[in-house]
Amino acid sequence: MRSTQVAIVGAGPSGLLLAQLLSRNGIDAIVLERRSRDYVQARIRAGLLEWTTVELLQEAGVAERVMRDGLVHDGFDVAFANGCHRIDLKGLTGRSVLVYGQTELQKDLVQARASDPGAVLWEVADVVLHDWDTRAPRVSYTHAGARHELRCDYIAGCDGYHGVSRAAVPPQQRLQFERVYPFGWLGLLADVPPLHEELVYAHHERGFALCSMRSRGRSRYYVQCSLGDKVQQWSDSRFWDELAARLPERYAGRLVTGPSLEKSIAPLRSLVTEPMQFGRLFLVGDAAHIVPPTGAKGLNLAAADVRVLARGLVEFYRTGSTTLVDEYSHRALRRVWQATRFSWWFTTLLHRFSADPFAQRLQSAELEYLARSSAASRTVAENYVGPSFD
Ligand SMILES: Cc1cc2nc3c(=O)[nH]c(=O)nc-3n(C[C@H](O)[C@H](O)[C@H](O)COP(=O)(O)OP(=O)(O)OC[C@H]3O[C@@H](n4cnc5c(N)ncnc54)[C@H](O)[C@@H]3O)c2cc1C
Repeated sequence: MRSTQVAIVGAGPSGLLLAQLLSRNGIDAIVLERRSRDYVQARIRAGLLEWTTVELLQEAGVAERVMRDGLVHDGFDVAFANGCHRIDLKGLTGRSVLVYGQTELQKDLVQARASDPGAVLWEVADVVLHDWDTRAPRVSYTHAGARHELRCDYIAGCDGYHGVSRAAVPPQQRLQFERVYPFGWLGLLADVPPLHEELVYAHHERGFALCSMRSRGRSRYYVQCSLGDKVQQWSDSRFWDELAARLPERYAGRLVTGPSLEKSIAPLRSLVTEPMQFGRLFLVGDAAHIVPPTGAKGLNLAAADVRVLARGLVEFYRTGSTTLVDEYSHRALRRVWQATRFSWWFTTLLHRFSADPFAQRLQSAELEYLARSSAASRTVAENYVGPSFD
């Protein structure tokens, strides 16, 4: 039987960043990941980092490429009624955000942990959490054809929405708050220059669209689609036509199209689990909460959880005090609910929900208010750049 101080389930951004921060503070952690290293490094997901996330990556010693290749964005556009309103993030809050693909971040984190052989076990199966409500938790798993057991002081469940950690807690011991949205996002990745130097969020009667990017030569575009749609129904040309139809003319006219590198449909959901700590088991990132991607919060919330938990564990191993560790759930949930509210609101503002003309008039009125009122723009900007850490 092996032992470690912190057993981490999942090598997504949460699990690897936590492992990296703990390692830099002399704390031993082993990460168990069910997928292969190549698979994890190729997953296409988020692309926008709040500045507090960037600072955490610097603290973890993995920000060299982020600072070199990331694109600083001082604002973004909200397009509606064939016009545009710019949210001046920098002018309204003094802060910017950074565009850097999660795929690249994942590679940086994997690379950093590779310096510690055995710290990440890839392709493990049948992970089971044991005794997390005692002082001697264990994790059992299958690796390279054999069953193993890992003793630890704490378990960090960083295994995402479909993982085993949240499911290990009986439903009667946790609360789950959920909102499922009646549409999805069809995303397309292509090696074409972005349509604009900043992100463009478009509200249109045909549905929402987002013009995003991963670098100066790689664009990521999304259109709102039906939940029943299949990727095969969306040829590249159908996607590009639909995207152009949802954009103001000044943008549609300069859209550069090209063959897709990847196309996928993601359902939209808000979910919060309370609490985020059960004895010696912590739920971290998507294992605890999901937000619709409209506010670009998923990855940033995961990083914020990691920061709070890492602080607590470092204090525990330095001083023996569990004060910060015991506050993990309370402190993390404050930020989680702020981001959940903003992501829900921004999704509600920009998407086409129904044919109800009353609801549509309200959306139009709210968008006009946003364009007219600097107070309304400031509220959006403050939420978009995210709160500072306390
Ligand atoms: C398709 C998609 C698109 C997204 N787009 C955006 C976006 O545009 N903007 C945004 O902000 N956010 C986006 N997100 C959300 C963002 O990517 C997540 O919030 C972020 O990845 C959370 O990181 P995590 O480490 O907590 O979870 P994950 O990235 O889900 O990592 C969990 C890890 O645990 C592993 N795992 C799962 N089960 C087990 C098990 N039983 N045993 C061992 N390992 C296990 C998984 O393989 C995975 O590697 C998107 C998410 C998805 C799924």
